[in-house]
Amino acid sequence: MPEVTPAIGLQLWLDDQARVLRLAGPLRSLLALPAQAGARVHDYLERHSWLVLEGQPADWQGQPLDLDFHTVMGHALHTRGWLQRHEQGWMLQLFDIGDLLREQRWDRQRPLLGEIGHALRECGSERLLQTTREQLYSLAEHWQAAALRLMLREAGGWRHYASSDETWPWPDDRKLRERLERWPAHTLIGVDDDPELLALCGAASLFLVPYRQGLEAEAWVLCAGARQAPPVDMALALVRTLTEPLLVRHRRQQLQHQAHHLDDLQRQLGAGWWEWPAHGELQLDPALAASLGLANRVSLGQWLARLHPADREPAQLALDQARDGQALSLSVRVPDPDPLAPPRWLHWAGQGQGGQLRGFLLDISALKAQEQQAGAARARLENLIARSPAVIYVQRYAEGALHSDFYSASLAPLLGWAADSEQARQPGLAVHPDDRPLWLERTRGLLRDGQVRCRYRLRDHLGGYHWMLDEARLLRNDLGQPLEVVGLWLDVSEATEAAERMRQSEERYRVLVEDSPAMICRYRPDLTVLFGNRPLADYLGCMPEQLQGADLGQWLSAGQREAFLLRLRALTPEQPVSSAEICLQLPGREHAWWVWADRGLFDAEGNLLEVQAVGRDNTEVRRSQQQLLQGAKMATLGELATGLLHEINQPLNVMRMAVANTLKRLESGAADQAYLEDKLRRIEAQVERAARLVDHMRVYGRRSAVEREPFAAWAAVEGARALLEEGLRGKGVTLRLEPPEALAQVLGHQDQLEQVLINLMVNARDALLEKQVAQPWIRVRQALHGGGLSLLVEDNAGGIDPQLHERIFEPFFTTKPAGVGTGLGLSVSHGIVSQMGGCLSVDNGAEGACLRVELPLHSTS
Ligand code: ADP
Repeated sequence: MPEVTPAIGLQLWLDDQARVLRLAGPLRSLLALPAQAGARVHDYLERHSWLVLEGQPADWQGQPLDLDFHTVMGHALHTRGWLQRHEQGWMLQLFDIGDLLREQRWDRQRPLLGEIGHALRECGSERLLQTTREQLYSLAEHWQAAALRLMLREAGGWRHYASSDETWPWPDDRKLRERLERWPAHTLIGVDDDPELLALCGAASLFLVPYRQGLEAEAWVLCAGARQAPPVDMALALVRTLTEPLLVRHRRQQLQHQAHHLDDLQRQLGAGWWEWPAHGELQLDPALAASLGLANRVSLGQWLARLHPADREPAQLALDQARDGQALSLSVRVPDPDPLAPPRWLHWAGQGQGGQLRGFLLDISALKAQEQQAGAARARLENLIARSPAVIYVQRYAEGALHSDFYSASLAPLLGWAADSEQARQPGLAVHPDDRPLWLERTRGLLRDGQVRCRYRLRDHLGGYHWMLDEARLLRNDLGQPLEVVGLWLDVSEATEAAERMRQSEERYRVLVEDSPAMICRYRPDLTVLFGNRPLADYLGCMPEQLQGADLGQWLSAGQREAFLLRLRALTPEQPVSSAEICLQLPGREHAWWVWADRGLFDAEGNLLEVQAVGRDNTEVRRSQQQLLQGAKMATLGELATGLLHEINQPLNVMRMAVANTLKRLESGAADQAYLEDKLRRIEAQVERAARLVDHMRVYGRRSAVEREPFAAWAAVEGARALLEEGLRGKGVTLRLEPPEALAQVLGHQDQLEQVLINLMVNARDALLEKQVAQPWIRVRQALHGGGLSLLVEDNAGGIDPQLHERIFEPFFTTKPAGVGTGLGLSVSHGIVSQMGGCLSVDNGAEGACLRVELPLHSTS
């Protein structure tokens, strides 16, 4: 064994096959030794050093050998040495040249570092991107890489720079970033070092060089396609040189950007900074100074002069206090050059720092304007509340009870209570004794249902009571627990009292309606009764409740009902009232006559909604009227008695003659059949005549039917003729009837119209007889006109004094001697004609009076 010489560096003894026989030297301890015994020197070396040791050891002599060994530290041990023949084998003597190499590399790269740093620091900001790319490109060349990429961390993300536009198959950016975020960024890594990275990048060669500040990586340079990893320290230095100026410039850009932003915001806000050195002038933000119309530096006097006079003293005081160390904070006004424009409001805030004051001014005009508007609105609202008959109150909830907390200012004017009075604290005490249960129920209801609306009386400070409408709501907190009650008292005394008065008046009205002897009812246009009072029910033989919904028409005959409806249809909003005498068929009574007045109620369109009616029983009056009429009729008959006797006597005479003559003939035996037959026929005709007359008298003497019915007006003329003609003839008066071509119908009672005509004819007869007219006549004719007809009774007795025309219709007016005239004939006749809806009038014709009976025609439609 050769003697071990104390050595420097590293010595390896090899055999001819380059197997390591022995190691020596101080560097030996650094080497990462291969596991197997008898390993070749290659197994100690990094792979690229194998190129140096091609062939057998004999081939390596005589030249310097640069070999990089694996070390236990991980990085390579760079050595340089020579191979010498040593006994049967070889000895490789090596020295550590790491420092030397580093020095050389630094020497080579120093210019590059300088260039990169210089280029990136000095280029204009518009060329920064391009310059960065160029520097990346030269670095890629330097590292003999295909492409470089720089990832720079920025607020909120990463910015990328690439050495060229060529697309290298870069790994998925997001996944890569995620991986790198978790990477302890302190040294260069190769994809081979991390299976996760390898999976991301595939087979491509990729080295990643970090630049870090503090604990985090601020940038990564991705070096793709390099044959070998750049030396770590160089790579780190290059990446730092590349990144630092970029980061500085980026930060500067950001700061500039932010400063711009800030200026912009300040301008928009009307804000700006100010400074006031201990012994100097006020310095203002230039933009702010310009907007205030001031120089950038102003004296105290100038500054105060710019403020509103009222704000100068407070400003001076605040400034003094700020110099004593207190914070400055006050609002000041800066008048607008336009005296009509409102002043500008500024909030002036600041603080002292080492004798120097510093702070900001903020335009708060908009705020102040809003504040003023809100203040005005609030004042208006408060004024409104104070003047309204309403009190807003708040009651706090505590332990199951409500405690008054707040009242609006309207409390005093409304109830005269002071806000701190006993009543205000406990309003329950001021509740009217009768209403206390309502008050207690209000509180219970409020807590139970969350809201309440009720009405009770509260005593004011003078002892008077007010009706209050209370509307309150319970507010709860997030947990649903009661917090407070917000409510409103509305003084509704007037309304409540008015309602009470109304109720009382309604009650009085109801009593009036109920107790009135008159029949009162409301009904619909289809005659359905809505309401009927007791008298009406009594008359109709039922209970008042039964009236509701009953058909009023059930007590009317078909004709009456039709006439009734016709009358209702004629009601209009302009003429809403109509009255008539109606005839009813009541249960258990023969007939009832009611005087009935209707008033129609209409809607806005003029449609009849309902009718209010008042009725009065007129049956008795009607009955007496009928009796009166009957009396008058009978009187007429009595008056006609002479004529009638004559009328009946006449046929009797004829018959007597006929009988006497027949008897004579029979006695003489000359009575043949023809003669007998002739006499008997004559007798029969006379019997007929007498019977007709008696019949008619019976009919005439009968009471009139209850209801009106249609009849031919001319039939009444004929009836009068039957009773009068013979009598007139006996007095030498000619009765001239001019029968009409068509028989027109009227509505009423034929006997009554007959009575009228008899009265008129008898008056004419009396006048004719009184005047002793030579050829007295009475003429009756009918004339049609429009919707009516006239019956004209004329005579040739010289007429009636026009001055008497008005008076002759008065009851008891007569020009006839006492005991002869009653003065009732024309008055009764007038009444009858009026009842038929017509009128009776008088006129003087050429030869005598002309009395005209005008009647409406009965239409069957
Ligand atoms: P009376 O026949 O009982 O007098 P009336 O009321 O019938 O009562 O008549 C009133 C008056 O009118 C008569 O008294 C008479 O003077 C006058 N009168 C009525 N008809 C005529 C007539 N056709 N010609 C003249 N006078 C008349």
